[in-house]
Amino acid sequence: MTETRSHPAVPPDAIAVIGAGIAGLTAARTLVAADRTVVVFDKGRGVGGRLSTRRTDHGPFDHGAQYFTARDPDFRGAVDGWTAAGVVARWTGRVVRLSAGGPAEPDGAERHVGVPGMSALPRHLAGGLADVRTGVRIDRIDGAPGAWRLVAEDGSEAGPFAAVLVTVPSPQARPLLAPVAPSLAASAAAAPMAPCWAVMIAFESPVETGFDAAFVTGGPLSWIARDGSKPRRPAGERWVLHGSPDWSTSVIEASADDVIRDLSTAFAGVAGPLPGVVQAAAHRWRFALPTAGVAEGCAFDAERGIGIAGDWCAGARVEGAWVSGLRLARALEAAGR
Ligand SMILES: Cc1cc2nc3c(=O)[nH]c(=O)nc-3n(C[C@H](O)[C@H](O)[C@H](O)COP(=O)(O)OP(=O)(O)OC[C@H]3O[C@@H](n4cnc5c(N)ncnc54)[C@H](O)[C@@H]3O)c2cc1C
Repeated sequence: MTETRSHPAVPPDAIAVIGAGIAGLTAARTLVAADRTVVVFDKGRGVGGRLSTRRTDHGPFDHGAQYFTARDPDFRGAVDGWTAAGVVARWTGRVVRLSAGGPAEPDGAERHVGVPGMSALPRHLAGGLADVRTGVRIDRIDGAPGAWRLVAEDGSEAGPFAAVLVTVPSPQARPLLAPVAPSLAASAAAAPMAPCWAVMIAFESPVETGFDAAFVTGGPLSWIARDGSKPRRPAGERWVLHGSPDWSTSVIEASADDVIRDLSTAFAGVAGPLPGVVQAAAHRWRFALPTAGVAEGCAFDAERGIGIAGDWCAGARVEGAWVSGLRLARALEAAGR
């Protein structure tokens, strides 16, 4: 006989948030600020999702989101607060746009990064939450409206929850939603996401590029960045190379070694002969960026008490994920759930 393991008991009006990326953490913090009990679940070892920093013997690499911009007034206010708290800083590196044969065009947008790494921001957001359970992959939403139970991959169960907010990438949201909220599952199915291969490569001496980062078009690369040009990073010639959505899709099952070779070759095509490599690794983001999404910014099914948020609901960026999480928490509050 197998025994069902239970997570600690929660009050009957508790809310579950699946996903501790920017969207889930923002929704959770907004609800906690309104005196709600919230439990956040994430399958990762830590929080942050695609806002992530990989530590290596040769220093850290931001291998997911590279920076963020802030246009929404609420988000600008949040960025100001994080800057004052020392969690975020302006990145003033020289960013250019490269196209085949043309000159490098400067791109002077105002960019912000987490310090000392991108993952500092989600860690800061999670710090304000009492109950974040990492290393828990939710497999199924069970039960009924008003008393949802979450069943994890390891068979453990948590709940009952008055509402469940699903803030995971759309391809991972769809199977969770399909049995309990078919119309939300349909929204997730209509928001495909493209992959991105990321290479983290460190050199023994500087790469002479004349810029710190570049948007690249017309080949395997979409973006290259000198990680050490961001504020409060340790010294070292570390670069992040991102494959374009089309190229990454075409080699999605390739080996890390092949991806490192191909993206390094493309980098040399842009930067000229490269110095000696002291470390190289690759990471495959299977669900990197939404290519279409939910126009409304989030959706909350008030009858069922289930909602969706994430960058696939409000723009394929950190800012979109934040706005989406905020809107979903407000929608839940407005619905009196
Ligand atoms: C390579 C790359 C480069 C990018 N560059 C930029 C950039 O420069 N600027 C920018 O603004 N944005 C960028 N982005 C996009 C940005 O990272 C995202 O828009 C944003 O981080 C999404 O946040 P989110 O909360 O919606 O989702 P996520 O960060 O994906 O969080 C979802 C969380 O759900 C968890 N999860 C999934 N399934 C389950 C489950 N079944 N059970 C429990 N937990 C689960 C995951 O572990 C994850 O932590 C980039 C993304 C990538 C991958």
